[in-house]
Formats: sequence, C-alpha cells, structure tokens
Amino acid sequence: MALTDSLGRPLRDLRISVTDRCNFRCPYCMPKEVFGREWAFLPRREILSFEEITRLSRLFAGHGVSKIRITGGEPLLRRELPRLIAGLVGIEGVRDMTLTTNGSLLGRMATGLRSAGLTRLTVSLDALEDGVFRAMNDVDFPVERVLEGISAAAQAGFSPIKINMVVKRGVNEQALPEMARYCRAGAHVLRCIEYMDVGHSNGWRLTDVVPASEILAILGSKWPLEALTPVYFGEVASRYRYRDGGGEIGIIASVTQPFCRTCTRARLTADGQLYTCLFATRGHDLRALLRGGASDDDIAALLSALWHRRTDRYSERRSAETVGLRKVEMSRVGG
Ligand code: SF4
Repeated sequence: MALTDSLGRPLRDLRISVTDRCNFRCPYCMPKEVFGREWAFLPRREILSFEEITRLSRLFAGHGVSKIRITGGEPLLRRELPRLIAGLVGIEGVRDMTLTTNGSLLGRMATGLRSAGLTRLTVSLDALEDGVFRAMNDVDFPVERVLEGISAAAQAGFSPIKINMVVKRGVNEQALPEMARYCRAGAHVLRCIEYMDVGHSNGWRLTDVVPASEILAILGSKWPLEALTPVYFGEVASRYRYRDGGGEIGIIASVTQPFCRTCTRARLTADGQLYTCLFATRGHDLRALLRGGASDDDIAALLSALWHRRTDRYSERRSAETVGLRKVEMSRVGG
C-alpha cells in the first residue's frame, strides 16, 4: 500500500541531486556573490556513490516511488551519469526516469543518456536573446550551445522536451512570446515558472514575481489557450493547450497558485540528506545510516516514519516572515 503523509499525500516522486556543483550562476538559484570562487562545494567523499543512490532509490520505490528525477546543481557534471541512470531504470516500480539540465553539456551527452534508459528530459532555458540569456546564467554562456543541445536531444529521441523558463519581472518577461514561438516550432513544451523564494541567497521580492495570470494573458493575447485537466495526482504544472493545435504549455505557479495539497515529492541531496519540501529548513541524514551499517529494513522504516509525519505545505503558508527563513538552497535539492 502506498505510503501517505499527514495530509494523505502519497510518496510518488523522488528528486535526486547528484551534485551540488553547477557551471552556471543563475541569480535566482546560485548567485555568484554567494557561490563565488571561495564557495566550498561538497568534497567527493561526502557525495553518495552510485551504489548508495541506487540502494536508497530501491527503498523509496518500495514505498511507492514510481518517478525519479535526476537533478543537481547541474547533473551532467557528474561523471559517468549514464551508468547511474542505467542502474536506476532497472529498479522494480520505477516507471518514469527524467532529468533536469541547463543544457550546456547536452550536445555531447544526449545519446548516452537516451541509451542508458532516460525516458524524459527537461531543459532550463530562460531566454533566447543571447544577451538576456548570458545575464541570466551570469557566466556569459552562449544560448547557441544550449539550443544545439536541445536539437541533439530531439535527434536522440527525447520528445516532447520540456523547456523550463523562470520568469522574473524586469528581466525576461518580454521574452515570453519568443520562447513560446520557439517551443511551438520545435514541438517542445514551454513551462513558465513563477520566480520563487527558494533557498536564502537570491534576494527574492514578491514584486519581482510575474504571476501566472499575467503570463497567461501575455501568451493568450497571441495564441488563445484552453485549460487542460491534470493527468495525474501531484502534477506540478497547470497545463494549457493552444486552441490552434500548436501544442501545450505549463505554468508552475508556486507563489500565486500553490499546489502543496497534491505534493508527492521527496528530495535527496548529493550528500544523502532527505528533504520533504523544496523550502524546508532541515533535512534528515540518510548517508549516516548507509555508511553506519543500517539494514534496508532500518532505512525503510525511517523513510516510512518521516513521510508519514510529513506536514509540509510551505507555499500555502508563505508570508513576509517565512521568506527570510534559512531554507535549503535550490542548488542542493535541485528544484
Ligand atoms: S512548497 Fe513544499 S509542500 Fe508545497 S508543493 Fe512545494 S515542495 Fe511541495
């Protein structure tokens, strides 16, 4: 029987961060003022091995997890990642293996990821105009390389590819129509994300949020849209289809339309901390159990106890007081 939390939400999704490192410095996630040259990333010995990740994933699957999302930092920086993916797709109960990447390394890795058994792919792309894109990754990385990576992924058989766009007022909302046009042309699914107060370093302000209603108005004024009903319990994005048959878009509106009531996601950091909410301030150390000789039954019992007593619904409770909390950094739990 599926394990449920205190609000009756089943544990279905596991997001696994395989590294805390990234080659971008997006200000809404990893501002370079904080994650600069002096920043101490996790030393190798503290990072879970593929064997440890696979063992934990098997135990999570035993509690009902059927979807695994690989994240980071930037997951493609983790060496031999296809080997991990091949191991995870073989776990009983895991039906959906997906990955979120900034696309910078996708050009040369797409085929290997596909052959390893990855079924779906999400690429973060916040603008098409090179100057805006370089400003939003803050390492002067050219947009062309990411677009080449998306083409390589499409050729490798990933379809549709989801394109995640974080929309920040005064930074890239003007790029929405162009992004929609690009995704319509490539049969990709644009997913617009309301800018969130993740972590405790991005200087988030409510006034910088472009609400879902405004995003829909901007896109709907060009291409009439129609709301779609959720496909499954726990779907993150609200989905809309273009009336002209040009595909669909998604909106992830954590700020203006919280979806905590159907949240089925657990998150594992690269050093084995379990977080039951993206905005949590405290994790639970699973690595100590793994390396301390705990049995599978011991770990499974702890996972069950932790999820069962879960009460998280940060986005429903967000307020001026909560914004300043020392929440886990997004680069550690991968969104
Ligand atoms: S705020 Fe936390 S509980 Fe709510 S949807 Fe996000 S991760 Fe789930």
